Amino acid sequence: VEKIHVEGRQVVGVTVNGQPIKTRAVLSNANLKVTVLQLIGSEHFDPDFVEQTEAVRLNNSSTQVYMALKPDETFDESCGDLLFSSTAPVFQTDMLLSRNVTSRTYSFYYPRTRPELGRYLIVASTNANYADWAGLPREEYDRRKADLAETTLEAIEKYVPGIRDKVDHVEVGTPLTFERYTKHWAGASFGTKFEGLAVSRGLPERIAGMYHAGSVAIIMSGWLGAVNYGVIVANDVDAFLMKK
Ligand SMILES: Cc1cc2nc3c(=O)[nH]c(=O)nc-3n(C[C@H](O)[C@H](O)[C@H](O)COP(=O)(O)OP(=O)(O)OC[C@H]3O[C@@H](n4cnc5c(N)ncnc54)[C@H](O)[C@@H]3O)c2cc1C
Repeated sequence: VEKIHVEGRQVVGVTVNGQPIKTRAVLSNANLKVTVLQLIGSEHFDPDFVEQTEAVRLNNSSTQVYMALKPDETFDESCGDLLFSSTAPVFQTDMLLSRNVTSRTYSFYYPRTRPELGRYLIVASTNANYADWAGLPREEYDRRKADLAETTLEAIEKYVPGIRDKVDHVEVGTPLTFERYTKHWAGASFGTKFEGLAVSRGLPERIAGMYHAGSVAIIMSGWLGAVNYGVIVANDVDAFLMKK
């Protein structure tokens, strides 16, 4: 979707891959700030609403290291499904986000739970600062990715001994990866902070037929919050369309 079209204070359509489509209602689950400031455009709102939207904070981003084991290699089921690890001596937000990683979350996937793949897989996730990854020369970006893969393999050795010999494929996702594929500004993993909810809920009051759902800090902004909020907003859209 390149643009959401508004005439007066009413949604009239969208443009998708260059093709205009007429509609009376739009429900966007793109990032809230992208929806208001870019897809619709601030010129369609009163200055107070634009200001309120601009003040909404984005959540931080993430990195992920995806590891696939060779076809016959395994790890012990005692790893569990989700393992939280930290070597930080104290809890500190900037340490959680630092490129000098001290906290990692491992997701372990077993053939038993993913029979169609028949492979043992691990995903190591960290929180991350977008600024540590954006705007780097290509070589430095690649170096940081390689470094993250290396230090992750080092860290996981404790739980999966011999991981380097067992692993078949390693791939790294950075804040730029998440920005590219989800289009959340700054690769925000969990959308916007809680003040985003008021903007999201206020949208149809500003522009008739315009709705937003997605990560706006309901149940910590994860998928469960996004799903629940989506159901709530879908009902609003339904009621709007039935009224007409
Ligand atoms: C690395 C990472 C780890 C996470 N871990 C967890 C976790 O453990 N637990 C948890 O609950 N949540 C987790 N989350 C958050 C969770 O993924 C999100 O809360 C959830 O995906 C939000 O769903 P959504 O549908 O609102 O938005 P998204 O999943 O972001 O989907 C939006 C979709 O819209 C598309 N889009 C955007 N703009 C446009 C456009 N202009 N035109 C067409 N398409 C567009 C995007 O490509 C994307 O497919 C994680 C997120 C990341 C990035």
